[in-house]
Amino acid sequence: MGSGIISESIVCGSCRADGVIRIELVLAAGAEVDFFSCRLCDNRWWNRNGSELALDAVLGLASQPRVL
Ligand SMILES: [Zn+2]
Repeated sequence: MGSGIISESIVCGSCRADGVIRIELVLAAGAEVDFFSCRLCDNRWWNRNGSELALDAVLGLASQPRVL
């Protein structure tokens, strides 16, 4: 739970460098996703439960209406 920057060695799928930043995020719907950003080639991607997530899917989760 929570959010923060985690420093661990992650290899970029595009340029194979290990300068990837990983940020854990909890979206409005309560879905926990990981955001990855490569510092070298600016490659960015999302991950949820170990599988890659399309940006559209992330936006869908973020904009999901809250049930009161
Ligand atoms: Zn890269």
